[in-house]
Amino acid sequence: MIELEGLTKRYGEKVAVDNLTFTVRPGIVTGFLGPNGAGKSTTMRMMLGLDRPTAGDVRIDGKHYDRLKDPLTYIGALLDAKAMHGGRSAYNHLLCLAQSNGIPKSRVAEVLDTVGLTAVAKKKAKGFSLGMGQRLGIAGALLGDPRILMFDEPVNGLDPEGIHWIRNLMKSLAGQGRTVFVSSHLMSEMALTADHLVVIGQGRLLADTSMADFIERNSRSYVRVRTPQRERLLDVLHQAGVTVVESGGALEVDGGKAEYIGELAAQHQIVLHELSPQQASLEEAFMQLTAESVEYHAHTDTPVEQPRPWGEGWNRS
Ligand code: ADP
Ligand code: MG
Repeated sequence: MIELEGLTKRYGEKVAVDNLTFTVRPGIVTGFLGPNGAGKSTTMRMMLGLDRPTAGDVRIDGKHYDRLKDPLTYIGALLDAKAMHGGRSAYNHLLCLAQSNGIPKSRVAEVLDTVGLTAVAKKKAKGFSLGMGQRLGIAGALLGDPRILMFDEPVNGLDPEGIHWIRNLMKSLAGQGRTVFVSSHLMSEMALTADHLVVIGQGRLLADTSMADFIERNSRSYVRVRTPQRERLLDVLHQAGVTVVESGGALEVDGGKAEYIGELAAQHQIVLHELSPQQASLEEAFMQLTAESVEYHAHTDTPVEQPRPWGEGWNRS
């Protein structure tokens, strides 16, 4: 369990993390979501004792990070993938980590196997691709068999196969009862991985909710219906008091259940060509939630220099 209480970080005038209070619980994947610059990495660094809070507190299983004996056996983290390992082999990199944290040497081969790097264990890590570097970072996080794992934007720059692998790994770690805390600036990514969501914007807490609740509250659900007997179906639906939006060749029925609409159509002998439940995008809900707190908007109302029509004026000689 990770507990934050009033956690705050200022850099001069800039408030990077603003009075955050929430708890990250074991047994589920908790997504830490916010636009770029929201304060996710700063929060994670403070959780790991790499940055000192201006105010407030973080506790890892009730203790401060610097009070943990052999911290890698409590909490494993993948932070900035580029910021590590140089000329050492993957094996030696992990061996050094193990030795300085009282972790048995046998764990090194185990975690290399878990992340699929056994075949390149003796190769120098600086020749690794981004995906391999990410796997090595994750091997380091898993080394101490910690109950708590933290991943900062782990899927950034990965190929689809790597992304799929990381998602499954996080779910299985949570399934083993561990605390899994993972950040992302993409709602679409969180929707596929997280059971619980903590959303921040400009350092402030915007939501702390289960993924299911977030989806339920923030997405418009409707049923798309296509029929060759459009006018008849519209009549029937209006009589049933259902709200219908016409969209292209289809009808969008708000809030209704597909079963109900199907049965209604059958009673009136109306042929349906499509009857499909739909959900509006969560990305939209996330953008709305954080809209006010995004640092650098692409303002549409700021005057933009108009491009000159090609060939007019100075470009002609
Ligand atoms: P995120 O990880 O959500 O993208 P960060 O935690 O990296 O956000 O950054 C939050 C804010 O704090 C940003 O405005 C960033 O510019 C600022 N910031 C982060 N680290 C420092 C630092 N060492 N010095 C000054 N400002 C910083
Ligand atoms: Mg970050």
